[in-house]
Amino acid sequence: MKKSFTTRSLNIPFPKDDPHNALAMPVYEAVAFEFDSAEDISANFRGELPAHTYSRTSNPTVEYFERKVKVLTGAHQVLALSSGMSAISAAIMSVCRQGDNIVSGRHLFGHSLALFEQSLSAYGLETRFVDTTRPDEVEALIDENTRAIYFETVTNPQLEIADIEKLSAIARRHGVLLIADSTITPPAIFSSANFGVDVEVMSTTKFISGGATSVGGLIIDNGTYDWSKNPNTREFAGKFGKDAFIARLRKNYYRNFGTCMTAHTANYQIMGLDMLEIRIERCYANCMALATFLHNHPNVKSVHYPGLSSSPYYDLALKQFSGKPGSIMTFDLESQEACFRFMNRLNIIRRATNLNDNKSLIIHPYSTIYCDYPEEERLRMGIRPTMMRLSVGIEGAADLIEDIENALL
Ligand code: PLP
Repeated sequence: MKKSFTTRSLNIPFPKDDPHNALAMPVYEAVAFEFDSAEDISANFRGELPAHTYSRTSNPTVEYFERKVKVLTGAHQVLALSSGMSAISAAIMSVCRQGDNIVSGRHLFGHSLALFEQSLSAYGLETRFVDTTRPDEVEALIDENTRAIYFETVTNPQLEIADIEKLSAIARRHGVLLIADSTITPPAIFSSANFGVDVEVMSTTKFISGGATSVGGLIIDNGTYDWSKNPNTREFAGKFGKDAFIARLRKNYYRNFGTCMTAHTANYQIMGLDMLEIRIERCYANCMALATFLHNHPNVKSVHYPGLSSSPYYDLALKQFSGKPGSIMTFDLESQEACFRFMNRLNIIRRATNLNDNKSLIIHPYSTIYCDYPEEERLRMGIRPTMMRLSVGIEGAADLIEDIENALL
């Protein structure tokens, strides 16, 4: 019988035995690693003697974190990076060049939207925005220069869910890569390969870090895409076969842009991974309790959480995310003023911009994350002045409900 996620996470061996039999992977804070001879270091640089040389390129503690994710997900290759945004930008840049395009959901985390609309467009990389919950519209935008379809497994903060198998079928039909940002549904509740996702990108700052301990990101290659189909990875496919994507990432982006994860961060992320499954269970149970309470409260106009059976995305959440579609919800009050009054009365839930901290966090996206966008653009993205986003933590559910009840008075 397959062991649980947590049992497996706690028992993944280190790449090399520790001389002291430490039960935790040591934190290698070293910048450089020494070689016994000039011949050895030369062989290493020629790619003939694998070993760590310099921590911007690779590091033993970071490698152990990558190895754990690889074993737990069954992925082909895994790369850890300095943040979720560095994972997203490196993944896109390594499969595209000037004149290429990607097709992406419009409903995205604000900085991903800004990356596509403002940063990558300046280098001639076009993003064609679409509603990914309507697969036909996705297919209509694909042409010979399309290199990837990109979407969030649960969009932040709209909390919409696309049918991933349908997106995957379209990607396969056109030979383009399917990339999912699975920040809100990390491994332990979502097995991306089972639904035809080729590459997962993720902010491990959120669930995996163990509760806001550190900023980090992951790129997970499921090994399902034929890299010779993309002219930008074809040469690497000839040389590295199935490893083409991570090889190109490591050689042309990760190393050269300097977006490495530090050993110290990897240590937090390793511990966070071990606790991931139990933290998700607790956050999800709390989120359901709060969503149900808010749903029944007369002062609350609407509640959006795909774990509620009233959600139009409930069936997809059940199928794709074991019925546990993360622990982020949004809800609406009468007006922006009512939202601010409510937020200012909270004592346990904190006013902060992060997700999946151990503490419950609340934010008013309209006046914060999306404040630079014109009003009509915000409304088009489903960012309403009456809406708040709540990231539910691991406190006692009754304490959170009491906090909300008092603030809604
Ligand atoms: N993707 C999603 C869905 C996010 O919510 C975030 C951050 O909130 C990111 C990516 C970016 O992650 P990071 O802050 O680690 O760069």
